[in-house]
Amino acid sequence: MNITFLGTGTSQGVPVIACECEVCRSTNLKDHRLRSSILVETANETIVVDTGPDFRQQMLRENVRKIDAVLFTHEHRDHIAGLDDIRAYNFILKNPMDVYAEERVIRALQYEFPYIFAERKYPGIPQINVHLINEQSFSINNLTVIPIRALHYRLPVLGFRFGDFAYITDANHVSDQEKEKLKNLKIFTICALRKKEHISHFTLSAAIALIREIQPETAYLTHISHQMGLHADIQEELPENIFLAYDGLKVEI
Ligand SMILES: [Zn+2]
Ligand SMILES: [Zn+2]
Repeated sequence: MNITFLGTGTSQGVPVIACECEVCRSTNLKDHRLRSSILVETANETIVVDTGPDFRQQMLRENVRKIDAVLFTHEHRDHIAGLDDIRAYNFILKNPMDVYAEERVIRALQYEFPYIFAERKYPGIPQINVHLINEQSFSINNLTVIPIRALHYRLPVLGFRFGDFAYITDANHVSDQEKEKLKNLKIFTICALRKKEHISHFTLSAAIALIREIQPETAYLTHISHQMGLHADIQEELPENIFLAYDGLKVEI
C-alpha cells in the first residue's frame, strides 16, 4: 500500500494569503502546504480521503488517473470544497464516484452541493453513489476500512485505518475505546496544528503524547498551521520516529 500526502496544511493552507510571516515567506517547498488530504493506493484500489479546495491541483500534481472511492472525515469546507472536481473522473471512468461519509456529512454535502443531489440534473455535473458509514468497519472491493471516532471539539469526526496505517485529522480527542483500533500500527498520521492551544485541534505536544500512547512504528503529523514554525526547525525538535508530513510525501507500507 502506498500513501501520498496530497496536502498537509490547515484550513487556510500555507502560505496564508497576504501573510508576511517567515513560514509564509519560506522558499522551502516543505513549508508550502495545501489543504489536508491523502491518497491511499493498493494493488487494486485508489482512495482519496477528503476533497478540499485544492483537490484539482492535487490530482494534477500527482497525476491520479483513477479514483475508486472518496472518504470524508467531516464536513468542514477545507475537507469538502473540491468535490465538484470529481466529475473529471466521472467522464473518464464513466461511473458515478463512490462516496463514503456519515449521515450528517452527507446532509452537509446536500446543502453545499444541492445540484449534485437534484432530482433533475444539469448535464455534466458530478455523479456520486452515497454510502453511509459509521464507526463500523466496511469494505471497498477487497480493502477493509476501519473508521475511528474522534472529536473535533464537539464535532464527531472519523479517522480511518487501512491495514497497518491510520489517518486522523481535525481532532483533539480520541476515546480509550477508539484507541483500541489503533493498536499495532506501522504508520500513524495525526493532526498537529501548532504549539499553542487550540479549541478543536491537537497541539504539537498533545499529538506527541497521543503517539507515545499508541506506539506506532512511525508517526506523521499533518493539518499544520503557519503558526507551527518552519518545517526544518520543528522537525529538529521531534522524537526520532515522528515526522512532520509535507505535501507530496509518499510512504510505502
Ligand atoms: Zn481541517
Ligand atoms: Zn475541521
